[in-house]
Amino acid sequence: MKKNLVFLGPPGAGKGTQAKMLSQELGLIHISTGDILRSAVEKRTPLGVKAKEYMDRGELVPDDLIIALIEEVLPQQGGFVLDGFPRTVAQAKALDRLLDRKGMNLSAVILFDVPDDTVVERLSGRRICPRCGAVYHIRYNPPREDEICDRCGAKLIQREDDREEVIRKRLSVYREQTAPLVEYYSERDILVKLDASRPIEEIHRRLLEILNEKGN
Ligand code: ADP
Ligand code: AMP
Repeated sequence: MKKNLVFLGPPGAGKGTQAKMLSQELGLIHISTGDILRSAVEKRTPLGVKAKEYMDRGELVPDDLIIALIEEVLPQQGGFVLDGFPRTVAQAKALDRLLDRKGMNLSAVILFDVPDDTVVERLSGRRICPRCGAVYHIRYNPPREDEICDRCGAKLIQREDDREEVIRKRLSVYREQTAPLVEYYSERDILVKLDASRPIEEIHRRLLEILNEKGN
C-alpha cells in the first residue's frame, strides 16, 4: 500500500535530503512547499511575487496561499512525502480536510529531532544546485568537484535565507508556529520521533525500518 507521509522538523533537520532518497527508492512523490515556492519566486509568478518578501525575512508565507498551493499539487491517488508542510495548525487542519475529501489518510508523521546548533551548522554549510535542486553540504555531503553539482554540472549556490540572522529567525518561527504540530499529531497514533542528528545513510535506513514497522 502506498504511504502518505509528513516530514516535520526544523529547517536544516535533513527533511529534504531524506525525502529525496526515500521517494526515489519507494516511488513516492516528493512535495516540498519550499522548493515549489522558490521556483515560483524564480519565475516571478503571482504566488512567487507574494511569497518572496516572507521567505527573504525567514517568515512563513500566509496560510491561505500555501493551502491553495497544496490543494493544487497533492496527488489524487496518494503515495507522497510532504516536506515542509504543514507548518501551522491551520495548515494541518486544512490538510486533514483535504485528505478526508479524497478518502486518504496519513500513514505517519516523522518528527526530525535535532538540536539548534546542529541546525545552524547544517544550514550555514548547505549549498544547492539552482538548476536541478540537488542539496549538498560543504562538510557532510560535499560535491565531488568543489562548488559544482555532481548531477548536472551547474555551479552551486547558497540560499538567501541560509544566512545566520535569517536562520535564527526561521528557528524562532519554527518554535512558535510549527512546533505545536508535535502535540497535534501525537494525539493520534501516527507521530514517530527520529534522531535526525545521525549521519544521512543511517537515518535513511532507520526511516525504512520505521515504515516497515508501520505496516499500513
Ligand atoms: P531541510 O529540508 O530539513 O531544511 P536539508 O535536507 O536541506 O534540510 O539539509 C540541510 C543541510 O544539512 C544540507 O546541507 C544537507 O546536505 C545537510 N544534511 C542533511 N542531513 C544531514 C545529516 N544527517 N548529517 C549531516 N548533514 C546533513
Ligand atoms: P524550506 O525550503 O522548507 O526551508 O522553506 C523555505 C521558506 O518557504 C520558509 O522559510 C517559508 O518562508 C516558506 N515556506 C515553505 N513551506 C511553507 C509552509 N508550509 N508554510 C508557510 N511558508 C512556507
